[in-house]
Amino acid sequence: MLEVYKKLPKTNCGKCGIPTCMAFALKVKNAQLKITDCPYVNTEDKELLSQKPIITMDDNYERVSKELEVEAKQTDFKEAAGNVGGQFELNNGCEVIRLKMMNKPYEMRKDGLYEDGKYCHDSWSKIIIYDYIRRKGNKPLSGDWVTLGYFPNTASHVKAFQRSAEEKVASAFNNNINDLKARCKAMGGLEDTGKMKADYIYRFYLLPRIPLYLCFWAADEEFPASCKLFLDSSAETYIDIEYLAYLVERFVELFVNL
Ligand code: SF4
Repeated sequence: MLEVYKKLPKTNCGKCGIPTCMAFALKVKNAQLKITDCPYVNTEDKELLSQKPIITMDDNYERVSKELEVEAKQTDFKEAAGNVGGQFELNNGCEVIRLKMMNKPYEMRKDGLYEDGKYCHDSWSKIIIYDYIRRKGNKPLSGDWVTLGYFPNTASHVKAFQRSAEEKVASAFNNNINDLKARCKAMGGLEDTGKMKADYIYRFYLLPRIPLYLCFWAADEEFPASCKLFLDSSAETYIDIEYLAYLVERFVELFVNL
């Protein structure tokens, strides 16, 4: 952080949106900003531009996943499996929890998360599944369908969520209901009826106890298609809401681009 600070003008002018150069340097160190976000840094300074962030976001994810891994490994697997809808097994005397995330099978072992029999190297999958297991959420579905904005501290996510998730699905399948149905089937979606009067409702399981309801209204002569995604209000018992928001976005990414 001090190395970054030394290269700044140290005038605390606030033009970068951060009140002080020191706070700016901290954000660069944490890879939340780039040093070139300060308009007074000489952008022709090759050495500076080629300088890698001291900590990248990937480093941060890896660090979080390692911290959560420690906690998830210490969990009582038998109890956790029962609580989160996983399947507990003894495999050659080793405890295992099997579960599916977005229709894909994973194995939680006492030495970490496995995917297709190999140690999983995707930090985000690890973060989500470790958090899900360590929390051992044990709450029946409430049956109340809620949008992401229902959960606390999600105000900043709501607009981005509409754009990056709901509008994306609506425009991808605007005039293509057959594709929508085929995609739902391929992703393990089950036709559902529910509280919404939508033209199509499909239920997916992001994780065994975290259903996602996709409601789709087909386009007509007046309006384009629209989509709403709902979660059960019990979801926050099972997973951190930041991770949940990311999980839904990841689902949509897969759903639209499969
Ligand atoms: S714009 Fe540059 S000089 Fe001004 S506060 Fe931010 S880092 Fe400091």
